[in-house]
Amino acid sequence: MHIVACIKQVPDAKDVRIDPETCTLVRQGVESIVNPHDWYAVEAALRLRDEYGGKVTVLTMGPPQAEEALRETLALGVDEAVLLSDRAFAGADTWATSLTLARAIIKLGPVDLVICGKQAIDGDTAQVGPGLAAHLDQPYTTYARRLELQDGGLLLAERLTDMGYEVVQMPLPAVVTVIREIGDPRMPGLKHKMRARKQEIPVMGAADLELNPEEVGLQGSFTQVVRVFSPPPRCDREMLTGEPEEQAEKLINRLKEAKVPGL
Ligand SMILES: Cc1cc2nc3c(=O)[nH]c(=O)nc-3n(C[C@H](O)[C@H](O)[C@H](O)COP(=O)(O)OP(=O)(O)OC[C@H]3O[C@@H](n4cnc5c(N)ncnc54)[C@H](O)[C@@H]3O)c2cc1C
Repeated sequence: MHIVACIKQVPDAKDVRIDPETCTLVRQGVESIVNPHDWYAVEAALRLRDEYGGKVTVLTMGPPQAEEALRETLALGVDEAVLLSDRAFAGADTWATSLTLARAIIKLGPVDLVICGKQAIDGDTAQVGPGLAAHLDQPYTTYARRLELQDGGLLLAERLTDMGYEVVQMPLPAVVTVIREIGDPRMPGLKHKMRARKQEIPVMGAADLELNPEEVGLQGSFTQVVRVFSPPPRCDREMLTGEPEEQAEKLINRLKEAKVPGL
């Protein structure tokens, strides 16, 4: 079985800054981390490999420094890692990102299962997983908390819903996005850490993926982030202080002053 886990390198949430000129996220000089949700995608892939055999490849599309993020996952025992990096990929929206990843997965194939995190903490769209399934023309499910391989090349997934959870079954190859309930990520082992430092990580660009520059990056995107800004505060806020009873009394008075019906 060949499982591909997709990870994204993102700016550390503790240090999110917006460039007032370009209205885009400041990435220069900001520490980059593996998207926190993607550790669960890597862990899910490793658990399936440990249980059913096969290999795990981790894939990321990003600038050259995204190689660091891949090496962090190799230290967990991932078998292979591939970096998709090319100036032409810059400014990609979720369509162009998932198209580029899908083309790489076809090149790395055959791939039985693609696993993504539930969302990236910067773009926050949760669109790349489903976008990948669309480009690969494969079945998919999202928010999986348990995965099980079944006879006949079928995958059973328990996925979280607003009402609780549901069980879905689909034929492989397929795409899934997972949530933290899939299991706590393992700690890096010394042996794997040593290997992760030396392991060769192939880099693929648009030409390697036989993608035209018009299909990828900003050129290949249907949407463009024109402005990133912190929404203005909606109304004046007042922090009520004092003992809980005191705060409750103050709150009732404020609501009365505001002529809230029923008080
Ligand atoms: C503030 C901000 C807002 C944005 N808004 C939009 C928008 O509204 N529409 C739009 O199309 N684009 C938007 N983008 C661009 C978008 O971030 C990129 O297209 C990005 O590559 C993928 O979308 P995402 O970050 O939302 O990831 P998500 O779709 O939330 O990521 C889900 C999963 O897909 C995988 N994944 C995501 N990106 C990569 C990658 N580069 N390499 C490997 N795996 C990956 C990971 O497993 C991740 O957990 C925005 C970017 C920013 C910074």
